[in-house]
Amino acid sequence: MNKFDYLIVGSGLFGATFANLATKAGKRCLVIDKRPHLGGNVYCENIEGINIHKYGAHIFHTNNKLVWDFVNSIVEFNRYTNSPVANYKGKLYNLPFNMNTFYQMWGVTTPAEAKAKIEEQKAEAVASLNGREPANLEEQALTLVGKDIFETLIKEYTEKQWGRSCKDLPAFIIKRLPVRLVFDNNYFNDKYQGIPIGGYNKLIDGLLAGIETRTGVDFFATHKNNWRDIADKLVYTGAIDEYFDYKLGKLDWRTVSFKTRIEDTPNYQGNAVVNYTSHDQPYTRIIEHKHFEMFGADVYSVPKTVVSEEYSTEYKDGMEPYYPVNNERNNVLAEEYRKLAAQESNVIFGGRLAQYKYYDMAPVIEQVLEIKNF
Ligand code: FAD
Ligand code: UDP
Repeated sequence: MNKFDYLIVGSGLFGATFANLATKAGKRCLVIDKRPHLGGNVYCENIEGINIHKYGAHIFHTNNKLVWDFVNSIVEFNRYTNSPVANYKGKLYNLPFNMNTFYQMWGVTTPAEAKAKIEEQKAEAVASLNGREPANLEEQALTLVGKDIFETLIKEYTEKQWGRSCKDLPAFIIKRLPVRLVFDNNYFNDKYQGIPIGGYNKLIDGLLAGIETRTGVDFFATHKNNWRDIADKLVYTGAIDEYFDYKLGKLDWRTVSFKTRIEDTPNYQGNAVVNYTSHDQPYTRIIEHKHFEMFGADVYSVPKTVVSEEYSTEYKDGMEPYYPVNNERNNVLAEEYRKLAAQESNVIFGGRLAQYKYYDMAPVIEQVLEIKNF
């Protein structure tokens, strides 16, 4: 049998997009994945006629028209707009921080009133910095939105999410949260967002249509030593330290876990995402999956609903590696691994695990779209 041009390890968005474009460029690809299904972390499981985001809620968003047009050429996207609600001790607030939130927090009804209130709330924190930059997440939050919002919507949620004090976390984590003096609950600033109509598996199936795939195949147990007999080049989207047999040490990850249950009601919380921002609940948020794909009266067309409580957990061997931990130790170690990766001939290291970077979906696709020669 002729050799493949590419052996692609991992069928997540990097591997699947690569396989799609390489095949269109006339190359022969074999995609393997150690999981029993294709799709990596965007894979959905269907329960009660609802697509369940098995590895965490995924909302596609981008400013890049090329990426948006590309994914829409594979499957059409719906009009889902992420607008999470926060529940703090039973009271609800809109996110991201906008005029609705400020009204709910303080009763202010105009942008001028809200602005004055925020200025008053953050004055003490701004003064205490004495002109220097915020040194940690707590200082960043207090100087961005002030005391009430920090204490109600940020402090305890962040402690649950990261398992450490806001004083011990970098400021940049919170910088991406928008603060708006308009009534706009859209969580993202990007021009385009949505969910594939019919779910993410349609996107993956479309990308991999006509391409040879094998699931339940772990690269290390099967092809690590002989892949050059099978293919000319390797695309590797697994964890970078594992590829090198952890020879420089193990990289740390943060992980999340889910408790998923069926509720015997068509509409459990009225929104896809509700964040629980106090320590009263051990989970960070509850996802009600049907709201990603069913809107208005459609919600009632399926009599039951499926919800997932999301818990943030410290990573241990055998768990799913989700978020890279970008502290000093891990950044240095990842860079050392990247140097080793650069020396591997005919191997492309792509995606979130192999690059040890927190990428959203769109940038992963963008990277593959930028490849000129397959
Ligand atoms: P993955 O999807 O992780 O795919 C890697 C694949 O490689 C996996 O299928 C794995 O099984 C396989 N693999 C690994 N090792 C081996 C091996 N040894 N042999 C065979 N196969 C192997 N992005 C957004 O844009 N919006 C969001 O709302 C969003 N939410 C997120 C929520 C969570 C909880 C997380 C963790 C991420 C979220 N992301 C989101 C980011 C998004 O998941 C990633 O950008 C995307 O999944 C990256 O694709 P990938 O192909 O690099 O990795
Ligand atoms: N955050 C918060 N309260 C919220 C939502 C987010 O304090 O209700 C903070 C928290 O520190 C979190 C960061 O904002 O780590 C980024 O949150 P986002 O939901 O954007 O990131 P994700 O968890 O989806 O990666």
